[in-house]
Amino acid sequence: MVRMLLNILKNLFSKPATVRHPFIKREPFPEHRGRILVFDMEKCDLCRDCERLCPPAAIKVDPETKTITYDPFKCIYCHVCVENCLQRAIKAEPDYQPPAYQKQVVYYKLER
Ligand code: SF4
Ligand code: SF4
Repeated sequence: MVRMLLNILKNLFSKPATVRHPFIKREPFPEHRGRILVFDMEKCDLCRDCERLCPPAAIKVDPETKTITYDPFKCIYCHVCVENCLQRAIKAEPDYQPPAYQKQVVYYKLER
């Protein structure tokens, strides 16, 4: 009983463990992977490694049309593509909540 009362008093006068998201955004943790920001088509050589390695098939590389299609709604943010792109053409940022009202894919085109 005493332990329970102590717990209640402690919880009454301590800060909550949660934050009032989305009014307050928690800083991402150091090992947080974040979302894919952009494919840098200046660096990309259309090798298709990212397409082959992507577990949910969120990336489609088409060497014929020189385009990359990235589906952020399929992406599980594992960063296998970021870590394995030999050209370092895929960038990510430690953001965790890009708002979206509609599902849409992102197209990138090589212009050379
Ligand atoms: S983004 Fe990287 S891994 Fe993907 S096709 Fe371009 S160079 Fe290859
Ligand atoms: S982060 Fe993972 S799931 Fe998302 S595109 Fe890259 S390999 Fe695919």
